[in-house]
Amino acid sequence: MSKLASASLWSESVPSSAAASRSARPALAARVLIVDDDATNRRLLQALLEPEGYTTQSAGSGPQAFAAIAECPPDLILLDVAMPGMDGHAVAARLKADVATCDIPIIMVTGKVDAAARLAGLEAGAEEFLTKPIDRAELWLRVRNLLRLKASSDLLRRHAELLASQVQARNADLQRFRTAMNATADAIFLVDRQTMRFVEVNTTACALLGYSREEMFERGPQNLGNVTVEQVERVFDAVIAGFSATQPSEVNLHRKDGSVVTVEIERVAQRFGDGWLIVAVVRDIGERKATERQLHRLAHYDSLTALPNRALFYETLRNNMALTAGGAMRVAVLFIDLDQFKNVNDTLGHAIGDELLLHFSARLLRCITPRDVIGRLGGDEFALMLTLGESAPGATAVAEKIRDVLRAPFDLQGHEVVVTASIGITFYPDDATDAETLLKYADIAMYRAKRAGRDAWCCFTAQMNIDAMARHDLEMALRRAVDNQEFVVYYQPKVRLSDGTVAGLEALLRWQRPGFGLVPPSAFISVMEECGLIVRVGNWVIDTVCRQIGEWMRSPLGKVQVSVNVAERQFVESDLARQVASALARHEVPAELLELELTEGSLMTNTELTLGTLQDLKQQGVTISIDDFGTGYSSLAYLRRFPIDKLKIDIAFIRDITATADDAAVTLAIIRLAHSLKLDVIAEGVETAAQLAFLRHHGCEQIQGYCFSAPLPLLQIEALLREGRTLAMPPLVRARENTLRLC
Ligand code: C2E
Ligand code: MG
Ligand code: MG
Repeated sequence: MSKLASASLWSESVPSSAAASRSARPALAARVLIVDDDATNRRLLQALLEPEGYTTQSAGSGPQAFAAIAECPPDLILLDVAMPGMDGHAVAARLKADVATCDIPIIMVTGKVDAAARLAGLEAGAEEFLTKPIDRAELWLRVRNLLRLKASSDLLRRHAELLASQVQARNADLQRFRTAMNATADAIFLVDRQTMRFVEVNTTACALLGYSREEMFERGPQNLGNVTVEQVERVFDAVIAGFSATQPSEVNLHRKDGSVVTVEIERVAQRFGDGWLIVAVVRDIGERKATERQLHRLAHYDSLTALPNRALFYETLRNNMALTAGGAMRVAVLFIDLDQFKNVNDTLGHAIGDELLLHFSARLLRCITPRDVIGRLGGDEFALMLTLGESAPGATAVAEKIRDVLRAPFDLQGHEVVVTASIGITFYPDDATDAETLLKYADIAMYRAKRAGRDAWCCFTAQMNIDAMARHDLEMALRRAVDNQEFVVYYQPKVRLSDGTVAGLEALLRWQRPGFGLVPPSAFISVMEECGLIVRVGNWVIDTVCRQIGEWMRSPLGKVQVSVNVAERQFVESDLARQVASALARHEVPAELLELELTEGSLMTNTELTLGTLQDLKQQGVTISIDDFGTGYSSLAYLRRFPIDKLKIDIAFIRDITATADDAAVTLAIIRLAHSLKLDVIAEGVETAAQLAFLRHHGCEQIQGYCFSAPLPLLQIEALLREGRTLAMPPLVRARENTLRLC
């Protein structure tokens, strides 16, 4: 290019601005592409720009320019308008049309910049114009400004891109977060502490409360229960302060439909900008609560009567004792046991037994005030706890009331049943200071009431405890005695009054207790009956006696009839008829050599069961007699109904038979009754000749007593039998005056 041409491009008109321009140089290494068909112009521009820190590239035509741009895109293009072939406008238009190059700023270099040329340049995509000759300062200024503009627009674009990618990343995070939240079975609530509104909830939270997400966002935790916003704020602030962060709390939340759900909430505080976010993880524990309640019910209440069970009764008693400790109030415990409940169960079945317990508990409830407590301890045992204040009715008054409400019969599925109860009473703090002992003493007192004849109450005394302990020791010793075979059978002869010969024997149990000598049954039979040992021992007696009869039978002594006493429980708890049959068979003894003595009591209770057993025994050929006759309450109807062979007049009537008119009258009545029922009659406990004379005179068939022989051990009774001893019979004379009158 010529110097002139160079001059036409070069202008010195604004030299003063050079210093100013230099002081604001563009960022170094900005690359400028100079597109001009005139090489001189290109060099000139190069010479002007490179000292200013720009890197330049040159292209002599449009196509060269595109090639250079493709190789290394410039930051700015100085584009000559007038070029052969493809002019500057066409080059610019194409560059702006391409997304890869459209952002490169273009300064059009033209000879003239009138309005039309400017419009054409702008339309082609130029950002700036420079007119030839080029003013150096203007070139620098325009290049620098355009590069700055480009830099800031690049920055803006990058920023926008960054923002877009950040938003995208955060959206992805949020999506992941929501997916995670929704994947849990717990409800999650995010609450802004400042606005006290939910800012995020998961689907479980919406499902739990019945609100849509949008509805949730209009609310805060204070809208979900009976709480004020201040209360919730206090809780949140405690969480933020680091207290109670991990302690789950139990809360009732109100659902949209008004129902209430019990939940467990765990809260964590999270920084959220300048404020705090409370993350609440909420778990529906309604089902767990229901199970807990159910378990509590099972653990604390009796399933039949719905009364507190033993555990809860004890707990309540302990609490009440603690409350009244040291005060003026007293606590009374009534231990209540139904009399003969077992009979109801055995004869009418367990379903009716249960019904009786249910009705009974309802009647008990009628006897107490709301502050008293009734518990079922198990079986037919109930306990009552009374708090006795100044005006409260006394414990014995309540016991009387219980007896009263039991007077009316129970209607149990058409069966009319009358039951009574035995009640033991203890007081706190008088009798004991702990619940267990108090109940134990009440039990002892109840037991005493039972022994006194049932349908009674009894207050505990210290002596009862001593007795109970002694009884316990006796029971233990008896259990050992059974294992150690410490029992032996004595035999007492029964004598025919017709000729004084031995009619048979009665087997009577003795206990050879180590260190105590020979213990009579009066000292232990009742305990064995109570604790059930009598069944085992009674069966042993039957077996021993049968074996003995068998041995005698096969000895020169021959046939000896022996009677065995059987207790009531042997009828109920063991299959007596089968026991007897197998003992007879085992020892090959004919049934007629065995007699069973039962008391009136056994006849009167469990009548159906007893009747069946007796009929079976009778069928086998066993003789049945009623022992201690006259002391019980057997009705004539029963005597006729049961297959009985013999009545044994109780020793109590015989003792004073010759001195007391009443006893003589009863004895006579029994003899006549027996005869009219075609039963034999035997008198026991006959000691004197006068008694003997009286009985003989009035037609009593047999006697048993010391007047002939006391009960003897095996060897002695065998000697007596061998000897063939007979009773020296008194002459058949009329008895004393007073008894004569009775005849
Ligand atoms: P129990 O069956 O009425 O027996 C008669 C009791 O009167 C016996 O007392 C006998 O020794 C006593 N005895 C006999 N003659 C006289 C007399 O002349 N004067 C006096 N004062 N007493 C006389 P033991 O042997 O002490 O038996 C008492 C009770 O124990 C028996 O009364 C019976 O009910 C019961 N018992 C005895 N052995 C057994 C048994 O193996 N099983 C059952 N379940 N009870 C038995
Ligand atoms: Mg007897
Ligand atoms: Mg008797």
